[in-house]
Amino acid sequence: MTAAPRDILMVLGIPAVLIAPDNRIFAVNAAAEKLLGKNIEGRHFITALRQPSLLDSIEQTQSDGTRRETRYLTNDGQHDITYRVTCGPVPMQGKQGTLVSFEDITPMEQAGQMRRDFVANVSHELRTPLTALLGFIETLQGPARNDANAQDRFLSIMASEAERMNRLVSDLLSLSRVEAEERVRPVDPVDLGAVMQQTRHSLAQLASEAGIELDVYVPDSPVIVPGDADQIRQVLTNLVENAIKYSGRGSFVRLSLGVPDYETRLRGSGVRIEVTDTGQGIDVVHLPRLTERFYRVDSHRSRELGGTGLGLAIVKHIVNRHRGRLLVESQTGKGTTFTVILPMEREED
Ligand code: ADP
Repeated sequence: MTAAPRDILMVLGIPAVLIAPDNRIFAVNAAAEKLLGKNIEGRHFITALRQPSLLDSIEQTQSDGTRRETRYLTNDGQHDITYRVTCGPVPMQGKQGTLVSFEDITPMEQAGQMRRDFVANVSHELRTPLTALLGFIETLQGPARNDANAQDRFLSIMASEAERMNRLVSDLLSLSRVEAEERVRPVDPVDLGAVMQQTRHSLAQLASEAGIELDVYVPDSPVIVPGDADQIRQVLTNLVENAIKYSGRGSFVRLSLGVPDYETRLRGSGVRIEVTDTGQGIDVVHLPRLTERFYRVDSHRSRELGGTGLGLAIVKHIVNRHRGRLLVESQTGKGTTFTVILPMEREED
């Protein structure tokens, strides 16, 4: 007993098309109909498949019986989709037909693109201070060789450029550590009020130098969550530092902790930590992209203030590791609130 080709193709989850020796489409499965349109059975493959590189591959496989791969690009109305298409010879009707199958490799392509973008971004971020350093070294070896005043000035600029590179490398290392651990949920009991007071302590000087009033509100009774105290401190430090950096003189920054409550977003009980500032705010168009690596609303201002563009990406990964949520609300001219919701229980992942 032999199965009908269509029945065999139907079992496959991926789009597949069988082309007969006479170049007509002999059978297609449901996934292929969805991709290429209905009623293509019986038509010459050229009229149904259209993309030149795919047509070339099918023609070659039809004539030389060799298996080959190509790409098929399409769009589902919202996103570009890339298929890896395999054309393989199939004995048919005493001659040879071609089986064409389509594998969606969009996520792989996207991951590759993200990796390339990341490397390009890191190289660019490092190159700027490095170029400055090389320029100053040349000047110190040449024209400024005997100019003590210029030497002092240049050395202090060089120190701040080297410091920028140092910050970037530390942030990259933090990010890669947090990403590596993201699947392992931290479980140590963390006293959030204590971590918040430590954060206030370590940033008090930065706030007063920036002319900003920094207040902390915590409930009377301790709030303990399962977590990693160092990482939660890093989240709070990054958020409060941003609030101080981007708000401007005379603003208020408030770090507050709510009492544990049912959180719909967690479908369980959780606790909210809010970092609110009365600064310039962030235009709503930027909000969805803020936690992307190297995304800045105003690159010049961020660099001037010593930003690496990685702070919120680190925050996002740490919050994910704690199975929490990060929310941002902002109104231009009025201020911004970042909210971190952390779960109270160590429920099963
Ligand atoms: P950066 O190192 O540039 O501060 P972040 O990832 O911490 O990088 O933040 C990304 C961008 O988000 C910043 O460049 C800034 O434009 C914007 N931003 C973050 N926090 C605030 C805030 N509290 N008020 C205004 N803008 C902010």
